[in-house]
Amino acid sequence: MPIQILDQNTINKIAAGEVIERPASVVKELAENAIDAMATAVTIEIKDGGISFIRITDNGCGIDKGEIPMAFLRHSTSKIKSVEDLMCVRSLGFRGEALSSIAAVAQIELITKTKEAFTGVRYVIEGGKEQNMEDIGAPDGTTFIVRNLFYNTPVRRKFLKTATTEAGYVSALVEHLAFSHPEVSFRFINNGQNKLYTSGNGSLKDIIYHVNGRDIATNLLEVSAKTQDIQISGFIGKPMISRGNRTYENYFINGRYIKSNIITRAIEEGYKGYIMQHQYPFTALHFTIEQSIIDVNVHPTKMELRFSQNEFVYDFVLNAIRNTLSGRELVPEVRLSR
Ligand code: ADP
Ligand code: MG
Repeated sequence: MPIQILDQNTINKIAAGEVIERPASVVKELAENAIDAMATAVTIEIKDGGISFIRITDNGCGIDKGEIPMAFLRHSTSKIKSVEDLMCVRSLGFRGEALSSIAAVAQIELITKTKEAFTGVRYVIEGGKEQNMEDIGAPDGTTFIVRNLFYNTPVRRKFLKTATTEAGYVSALVEHLAFSHPEVSFRFINNGQNKLYTSGNGSLKDIIYHVNGRDIATNLLEVSAKTQDIQISGFIGKPMISRGNRTYENYFINGRYIKSNIITRAIEEGYKGYIMQHQYPFTALHFTIEQSIIDVNVHPTKMELRFSQNEFVYDFVLNAIRNTLSGRELVPEVRLSR
C-alpha cells in the first residue's frame, strides 16, 4: 500500500482506544466534564453495564449552541489555552479528547442549555458524524446519552466483559467520584434501580457511610497534616477493619482519583506493625498538593501521577499515617521513633 495520511475519522477511532476502553471510561469522562462545568448534582444511569445505554445529566453551565460542534473536535477544550496552562490545571479535563473519542465509537445524543439561552439544543452525532441539531425545551445543564458503545468497532466490543462486570466498574467509578467530590450530589441508577445517592453536603464521612456502610464509618480515624506543599485530610480505618485486597485504599489528589506508587507504599508502610501481612487498610484521603511538584500530563487517562520530590512526599505521608495510628499527631517525628 502507498503511504497515505489517515482520514480524521480513522485517526479519531484509533485515538479513542487510548481514552475510551469501556463503559466506565465514558462515564468517567462525562461525569468529570459535569464537575468541571460546576454542576452540583450529577445523575448517572446505565443499562446493560453501560454497553447499550449511558445517560449522564448535570445541572452545570451547559454548552453554548454555537460551540457544540467544536466540542466534538479533537483537542478542543475550554480549559487550557497553552502548554504553560498545563502547570496549573485545576479542572479534571484539559486534553479535549473525550467527546471526540466517545463520538467516534458510539451514538451520542446531547441535550444542553446554558442559563443565558432562551431554549435548549438537541444534538446527535454518531460514529463521529453529525446527524442532527435542533432547538428544544430543556432545563439548564447538560444531558449526554451514549448508546451502543463500540457499535462500529466490533473487535473492541468483543473485549468488553459481561454487563454485570462492566456495571461493577461503573459502580466503583461512581463511588470514587462521590469520594473525591463530597460537595456534589451523585445519583447512580443501574438497570432502573437506585444504587447510590449522596447528598452533596460536603461531608466525607457521610459518603463513607453511604458507600461502605456503618461498620466502616464507625471505625475511622481522622487524618489531618500539612506542610508547605502538601495537605492531607480525610479518614483512615482502624487496623481492625483492614481487608485482604486493596479495594478500600482510596485517595484523591487535587480532586482526582489517582494511583501513585509512592503514596500507596507510604500508606501501607505506615500501617506496618498495625495490620498483618497481606492485609490492606481502608483509607479515604484527600491530598492537596502544590501543582508545581506534580506532573499531570503523564497518561491520557491521567491515572498515574509523578512528583518532582518523591522522597519528600513518601516521608510526609508515612508520618501522617503513623502519627494518626499512634494517636500522637502532635508529637514530633523524632520522639515518635523511640
Ligand atoms: P476537556 O474536558 O479535556 O476540555 P472534552 O472533550 O471532555 O475535553 O470536552 C470538550 C469541551 O466540551 C469542554 O472543554 C467543555 O467546554 C465542553 N463540555 C463537555 N461536557 C460539558 C458539560 N457537561 N457541561 C458543559 N460543558 C461541557
Ligand atoms: Mg473532559
